[in-house]
Amino acid sequence: MIVMKFGGTSVEDGAAIDRSCQIVAQRIERRPFVVVSALGGATNALLEAGKLAADRQLDKALAIATSLEQRHLELLPSTVSDFTKLRELLGALSAIGELSPRTLDLIASYGEAMSSLIFTHRLNELGYRAVHIDARRVMVTDDTFGKAAPLLDLTSARLEEFARPRIQAGQIAVMGGFIGTTTSGITTTLGRGGSDYSAAIVGAAMNAEEIQIWTDVDGMMTADPRIVPDAYKVKEISFSEAAELAYFGAKVLHPLTVLPAVDKGIPVYILNSRKPGGTGTRVTKDAGPCTNLIKSIASKRGITVVTVSSSRMLMAHGFLRALFEVFDRHRTAVDMVATSEVSVSLTLDNVAALPAILEELKPLGEVTVQDHLALICMVGNNLKYTPGIAYRAFGSVKDINILMVSHGASNINLSFIVAESDANNATQKLHAEFFGEFDRKIFEPPV
Ligand code: ADP
Ligand code: ASP
Ligand code: MG
Repeated sequence: MIVMKFGGTSVEDGAAIDRSCQIVAQRIERRPFVVVSALGGATNALLEAGKLAADRQLDKALAIATSLEQRHLELLPSTVSDFTKLRELLGALSAIGELSPRTLDLIASYGEAMSSLIFTHRLNELGYRAVHIDARRVMVTDDTFGKAAPLLDLTSARLEEFARPRIQAGQIAVMGGFIGTTTSGITTTLGRGGSDYSAAIVGAAMNAEEIQIWTDVDGMMTADPRIVPDAYKVKEISFSEAAELAYFGAKVLHPLTVLPAVDKGIPVYILNSRKPGGTGTRVTKDAGPCTNLIKSIASKRGITVVTVSSSRMLMAHGFLRALFEVFDRHRTAVDMVATSEVSVSLTLDNVAALPAILEELKPLGEVTVQDHLALICMVGNNLKYTPGIAYRAFGSVKDINILMVSHGASNINLSFIVAESDANNATQKLHAEFFGEFDRKIFEPPV
């Protein structure tokens, strides 16, 4: 049995869905379990509608619902009932004027709930035997709304009960990614980009022989092809390199995806649904030898740096603990940390709790905030061994102002912070520097 996950762009409209259905059909003898994302852009639209409704802009929220409805009804008329429920929900939100993470998850879940029904329906229409598996019955999670953690044992048991017999009977199982349910039946989501995670959980729980992540690029590339159009495909990348890249912005693969799969040694491939004949990128357990110093460059925009300066307290016992506790209390992850004798700087990409955090940091010292920054992250297993990489990296971006530098604790990344407006330029220069020549065993130029 194999798991095949199709991202938003691979199911964005009827033509994309048909392409993806054919990809599944061609692998029918491998017993596919399909995991689908919402139609491209649907999750963003749903979340936006929820926020507008709670902000008492019901007209705008309903207008979004209507345009989503047109896209969905064209593909499956029976989704009309989902839109009736969605409208009621938006109406209720605008009456209360409040939006909890739990309700936001419920709204977002409509995307995958409907796309999975649409995909099942289309496979059946094309003459294949497909069965819909409701993720809200099998993907059991805790109740951390917005970023729920799957409960593997319960999920495994339910997949064995509801999905395995169908697959054994030769049916194609189709489930929505991203969404789950608590043990008491309340809808959750696994966080943005979470369909990859759903696919990996299914793969690990059901001991799949392979997990295929079908998307709109040829695989993991040496940089985001939207920034470096002539980026190369990376034929093989280790789990830890892929996780690092994903975390730092290469959203082609959700960071958590690799965990359940790596534990079981299940091969993961990233493949292009527009060019299904390609070989994609294989995510392997260990990195093989590669003559290039790095494998890929990721970047993440919208980074904020918070600096706390205090000549008095910095070296005092307990200072750093007090500092990190503030971020911890507000559930705000810190990506990078740099210290000097009189200051500590930290980078954040989630600023939802920033005002409260700044208030609590005040007693610790003078606090400054810089925003509109970007984090550039070079990743590769060779960073562990090869001297002189920093010299070449900084030489190639010498005319760009660098605000912070970190050689990640994993030893396989070298990251730095620049102004958002310099991010693409920095990525392009680094790419030219490190991929002027390339190892043909590992990289493949665009065709
Ligand atoms: P999906 O909808 O299939 O989940 P995503 O939009 O989440 O797709 O991820 C695919 C996108 O990730 C690509 O279109 C590409 O622009 C972006 N991306 C960023 N960095 C990389 C990278 N290093 N390699 C490939 N794609 C990347
Ligand atoms: N549809 C969800 C999102 O946009 C999950 C996913 O696509 O992986 O975040
Ligand atoms: Mg994605």
